[in-house]
Amino acid sequence: MKIEVDWTRCDGHGLCARLLPERIAVDEWGFPVIGDADIDASLRRHARRTVSACPQLALRLTDVRAPS
Ligand code: SF4
Repeated sequence: MKIEVDWTRCDGHGLCARLLPERIAVDEWGFPVIGDADIDASLRRHARRTVSACPQLALRLTDVRAPS
């Protein structure tokens, strides 16, 4: 799974980076920088909480498994 940002909603206060520093950093303006690494099972619950905590509802988790 991956985390995606809706840039039309994000206000750049960086809460998500504080909640999920394993995958999200912030740029010099406070906007999230999300790495390409998969959200593996060990981080999934944490990632869901981060998505839920975004005050702008700007984050979502997407399943990036290749179609079979
Ligand atoms: S928590 Fe939401 S609004 Fe805040 S920086 Fe992250 S994505 Fe943007």
